Amino acid sequence: MKKIYIVICLVVLMLFQYKEVITVDVPLTLDKRVIVIDPGHGGLDNGASFKKVNEDDLNLKIAFALKEELESKGANVYLTRTDDQDMTRRDYMYSKDDDMYLRALKIDAYKPDLFISIHLNSAHASAWGSQVFYYPKSKNGKVLATHIHNSMKETTGTKKKIMASDFFILRSTASLGVLIECGFLSNANERGQLKNRSYHKKLAKSITFGIENYFSSLSIKNNE
Ligand SMILES: [Zn+2]
Repeated sequence: MKKIYIVICLVVLMLFQYKEVITVDVPLTLDKRVIVIDPGHGGLDNGASFKKVNEDDLNLKIAFALKEELESKGANVYLTRTDDQDMTRRDYMYSKDDDMYLRALKIDAYKPDLFISIHLNSAHASAWGSQVFYYPKSKNGKVLATHIHNSMKETTGTKKKIMASDFFILRSTASLGVLIECGFLSNANERGQLKNRSYHKKLAKSITFGIENYFSSLSIKNNE
């Protein structure tokens, strides 16, 4: 009996000894970068709406997926909103001016390395594809948009090009940022994708990869 006990003890000891410790090291490529995600619309402002699918709800879901992905790379991430409310948090009257003014202030208050405004598009049924917008006078904005666009192309298959735009959120913020239209709710195929949680993760990964590429392009430039 004693012998069996000793053998069992030995086997247990050996198992402990040979238990491999598997650790996955995720390189913290965005370590300490401060990034603000701005999920467009919210509250009384649903944004684009098609067949009971509201843009503001999906913007928020994509923003959460993006937050998770950016944080896994070490970034400090803030959202302009985390629930179904606009910046005024009023439920009796919506003012685009008030909402946008407060949104721009909020983004700049974090003094971010960059911000990403998330939106979804709507037009005629055959329009589709993601598109990244940057402020015309922002050199870095254009570089950032290019990296994100190139990376997103792999996921969304878009044929669209990056575009300069004086959207309020780009024009009125002191921070570097881009606005991403992730796809068209008015397109049946893209609407199906945009409702899907696994597609949110794919979008998040591709946007994050674009941001990583943007920062590494800066460090290459600095080393030249
Ligand atoms: Zn929008």
